Amino acid sequence: MDSPARPQEPQCILCGRCLEVCPLLAATGREELSPRAKLFLLQRLGAAQGALDARGVERLAGLCLSCGRCSRACPQRLDVPAAVARARGRHPGFTAWAWKAWIGGARALWPGAARLGGLLGTRGAPGSTARRLEALVPAAPRPLLRPEAFTPCPDAGKTVLFSGCLGRTLRPAWARTAEALLRGLGCDPGPEPGWGCCGATLGHAGLAAAHSEAVARNVAAWRAAGRPRVATFCASCARGLAAYATDPAAGFDPAEAAAWTRAVTPLSRLLRSVRFAVSPPQGRVLYHAPCHAGADDPDRAWLASLAGLAADTGDGRDCCGLGGIMQLGSPDLSRAVAARLWQRRAALPGDLMLSGCSGCLTQLAATAPGGVVVAHWLDCIDIS
Ligand code: SF4
Ligand code: SF4
Repeated sequence: MDSPARPQEPQCILCGRCLEVCPLLAATGREELSPRAKLFLLQRLGAAQGALDARGVERLAGLCLSCGRCSRACPQRLDVPAAVARARGRHPGFTAWAWKAWIGGARALWPGAARLGGLLGTRGAPGSTARRLEALVPAAPRPLLRPEAFTPCPDAGKTVLFSGCLGRTLRPAWARTAEALLRGLGCDPGPEPGWGCCGATLGHAGLAAAHSEAVARNVAAWRAAGRPRVATFCASCARGLAAYATDPAAGFDPAEAAAWTRAVTPLSRLLRSVRFAVSPPQGRVLYHAPCHAGADDPDRAWLASLAGLAADTGDGRDCCGLGGIMQLGSPDLSRAVAARLWQRRAALPGDLMLSGCSGCLTQLAATAPGGVVVAHWLDCIDIS
């Protein structure tokens, strides 16, 4: 008997659409870093199993920002960042390096880093360690928005926040503002359940087991809390959480996956019914659209709807260049992508750059031209 034919894997048809959107290619002009070139490069890297030398680690770290722009543009639905993550995960040498880099570089930096940043006193070069420490010090922009009138949510009820790693550790003011807004909307914010990291960055770095653990932990916390609505003010967390619906690590049946999808919502989507009084800004208000927010970025739409703010929301084509593991492994590439963003946005001293992604905000603050303030849009809301 003939064996059933295997479904054909989608193939690259060399249409070039991914080349038009890849920020890494745009910033470096390096053809070998283009999405379709990566697919071929990965085949070669795949043959070199086992320990990686420093060059190999740098190569894997610097291959991709995991922004997802190419996969959204690809007519063949080829997922280059997922292929890069799998390649990273296949190399034990890279996995070990990634953990060491995170524990030695990022995690150790966070506790107390804000205080240290404040003590540095001088501004380092864009993207330098000194600037990265300074970037962890909360910015205090002039309040621009004051809620004037709330229309209660029609489906108001228990709504817990998912503040994300940066929000939970160094930016508790974001959650305080978000909770006040939820209360105004008639929602019951309650305490955050025992969330961990959303896991998205771990997945991009190829740390598949840690990613699955994060998913399982957060789903267990949601169930224990009674499956409430989950509001988040980090675009990357929102994307990472939404992906749980199809992740086997979540252990959802179809009904629970649908309930999860309904439950997870960007906070800005709930704010559309709030009327804000807008104080005219002193400089320009720019908005950086995080790659993970996608084409229908709810933060961008909400800010654009606020008459009087006149936010320049850009064309949504820029990447901040953080790229998770890339900033740790290939800082030069990361800086090149950030430099292109600032050049395109032509930010001047006195301008305010807003965003709604924790990762973007730390990268933007670490690379901003002098005199440009970088802040989460929640930092501009006066709830006193
Ligand atoms: S995910 Fe982003 S950086 Fe990576 S290949 Fe695709 S477009 Fe380029
Ligand atoms: S968009 Fe997809 S099919 Fe087109 S060149 Fe890029 S990877 Fe190939």
